[in-house]
Amino acid sequence: MDAHTCLGEPRLLISHGALRHNAGVLRAAVGESVKICAILKADAYGHGAAGVARTLAADGLADALAVASLDEALALPEVGLPVVVFRPVENIYVGRQREQLEEAIGRGWTLTICSAAAAGDVARLALGMGKRAAVQVKIDTGMSRSGVDDGEAHEVIDAVTRQPALRLGGLCTHFACADEVDDVATGEQFRRFCEVTDGFVDSRAGGRRPLRHVANTAAMLLHPHTHLDMVRPGLGLYGIDPMGAASGRNLKPVMKWVAPLLMVRPVRKGASVGYGLTWTAPRETRLGLVSVGYADGYMRSFSNRAKVMINGTAAAVVGRVSMDLITVDLGSVPSAQQGDEVTLLEDDPASPASVYALAELGGTIPYEIFCRIGARVHRVVVEEDVGRDLSRRVFESAG
Ligand SMILES: *Cc1c(COP(=O)(O)O)cnc(C)c1O
Repeated sequence: MDAHTCLGEPRLLISHGALRHNAGVLRAAVGESVKICAILKADAYGHGAAGVARTLAADGLADALAVASLDEALALPEVGLPVVVFRPVENIYVGRQREQLEEAIGRGWTLTICSAAAAGDVARLALGMGKRAAVQVKIDTGMSRSGVDDGEAHEVIDAVTRQPALRLGGLCTHFACADEVDDVATGEQFRRFCEVTDGFVDSRAGGRRPLRHVANTAAMLLHPHTHLDMVRPGLGLYGIDPMGAASGRNLKPVMKWVAPLLMVRPVRKGASVGYGLTWTAPRETRLGLVSVGYADGYMRSFSNRAKVMINGTAAAVVGRVSMDLITVDLGSVPSAQQGDEVTLLEDDPASPASVYALAELGGTIPYEIFCRIGARVHRVVVEEDVGRDLSRRVFESAG
């Protein structure tokens, strides 16, 4: 299948060339002795978790994969890497959790424990199956979100190590402010984590130490002393710098969002556009119609503010973004014709349609822009990020 044949509809082009490049940059940042746990939650931040998992595994670019939920773990393909589920195990008798947890234990996934009760619950399930469950203990060191308070962490760790049906695979925490260069909070969180975990050995496991891991992308890049045994990059794998576009770290955005110019229509000066008639043509111009809208995650707050790229030139989104359509002013792109490729989200960090620019316009962060892009937009894996030309090799289409 040629890339162009699939461009009759909006598509997310996912460059696995860029993904490999970013994994290499992150590997170089931590060296060979630190494990990399690739964060694939939220469908790999909208990039298609199955494809990302396969590429990372095939090329030896990650040592483990992590997701937020059991549902997400169940949706991953089997690629031969350890799987970590970060949502704490709680309420195991609610809904169908118990069956899902048994599946998780059976498959050897690492489950996250934040309470002694949860340790007991997982141990009971494992015992009933005649298995040993892998768990990690998440410690709260100041973010006050999930995790056992550091002051009580030893009780939970003891509750795990007392259970023959549990294997303590990891100790971890999560930073609140790792993307701030000079913040004191990260240093304080790291100090508290080390205070609880330094020198800890699982005596029952022959003195083996559980993996200690705390660093997300920002901590990996800005606070190298926090690498410990394993790091947990998400955003960086997808080519986005937590410090913003201008940090010059040579990450390559993996995602590009394109759609065809569905129709072109001339309008006279004074014509008004879209719901609420919020834009009025200041001159005679041509409007382009693109079949994408807020149902796809192209935010309504982009109305009259965002830019798209056509033939390398920016065109303004005019009028309100509606559920399935946007209109753009083609006055700046006289060459634009029906069927041309419109880029809604550019893989160039400096573009007016970069994820950084869209996040700014939407009053949000690149993570949320990615996560909002709906299932209606098919993901297409392309081998290399060779830009706009037609030599893009499409080798897989994920629907
Ligand atoms: C999402 C997440 C990460 C990855 O964070 P990035 O900022 O995307 O690198 C790491 N660890 C945990 C526990 C997470 O939930």
